[in-house]
Amino acid sequence: MFKDTIDFIRGQFKTDAFIPLHEPRFIGNEKKYLNDCIDSTFVSSVGAYVDKFEKDLAEITGAKYAVAIVNGTAALQVGLRICGVEEGDEVITQPLTFIATCNAISYLGAHSVFVDVDKDTLGLGYKELKKFLEEETNVRDGVCYNNTTGRKISACVPMHSFGFPCDIEGIAKLCKAHHIAVIEDSAESLGSYVGEKHTGLFGKVGAISFNGNKVITCGGGGAIITDDEDLAKMAKHLTTTAKIAHKWEYRHDYTGYNYRMPNLNAALACAQLEQLENFLNKKRALADKYKTFYSNKDINFLTERAGTTANYWLMTVVLKDRSTRDQFLEETNSAGVMTRPAWTLMNKLDMYKDAFCGDLSNSEWAEDRVVNISSSVIIK
Ligand SMILES: *Cc1c(COP(=O)(O)O)cnc(C)c1O
Repeated sequence: MFKDTIDFIRGQFKTDAFIPLHEPRFIGNEKKYLNDCIDSTFVSSVGAYVDKFEKDLAEITGAKYAVAIVNGTAALQVGLRICGVEEGDEVITQPLTFIATCNAISYLGAHSVFVDVDKDTLGLGYKELKKFLEEETNVRDGVCYNNTTGRKISACVPMHSFGFPCDIEGIAKLCKAHHIAVIEDSAESLGSYVGEKHTGLFGKVGAISFNGNKVITCGGGGAIITDDEDLAKMAKHLTTTAKIAHKWEYRHDYTGYNYRMPNLNAALACAQLEQLENFLNKKRALADKYKTFYSNKDINFLTERAGTTANYWLMTVVLKDRSTRDQFLEETNSAGVMTRPAWTLMNKLDMYKDAFCGDLSNSEWAEDRVVNISSSVIIK
């Protein structure tokens, strides 16, 4: 039934071998910078590549500050902490996300609260969030509370699913009116914009991931981007054991973390960042081909919302129903063309099954139908 998809993908990647979902590409200065890093002996948490990477990332995203962190999950955890999330608080997020979003919330002793995505972006929905805030919460003395649980709602973590920007401008406005801090999970959306503004810069902080399967990778890594100087300073301070600068004394003023990105990873990250534009162009070219291919079929190829630029990290199709999805997954994976369903909704996992939830019908709809298809950068 889906032989045409398999043939089309094989035609694009020009191979009879197994085609992974998203492979990294090392076609630039990766080995050069890594060798240089090793020769310098600065392979750990201090080094010139970490500083360069932060500078380059800030420049590319247009953020005033970027702080390199050991991975995207840690970036989210620290982002939540510096924005004031405390033990026992509630944090609104979407159930259709990677587990790291909710884990980061749990690391702080806070509770995930699930609000629905919209069907156009698969990210946290503006209408859905508005309804939830109106019906389920109240603001007293500048603090938002959940009517049912009585807990404080201190933050909201919208996620730009597969690199498609959600309606973050609307969400940020709603949250501001309700005194809720926005921490964007931009783990998947490096190179994705709303208008001219990079995702991750609409709330207080954004968290990016450079894990092996993301748009660019440094093995493992993450970053916080922000326009707020105090938050940037705090992020760096907490991720470097909260040590007070001194020539020889070891004095720390918070329970910090050893979450700094090692210089070795930063060397790889610098080389990959140089490739970002090239990768994004090639991914967009592939997305255009998919778009044309699927235009006359009973399968919806997801494209960016008007006024936004997606990085097309993972190409996404929406099938007719769950059984069609399962057949698509079965046929493509059996043929050596890797495809993958969207995540199991967070509220269905044991750790989060008792979480407070709004109506989640769009997320249910997406879980049944969404599949990611071959998305690697094709180098000719
Ligand atoms: C990849 C990812 C993360 C975590 O990033 P790591 O670098 O793997 O820790 C967080 N949230 C989402 C949505 C992700 O896709």
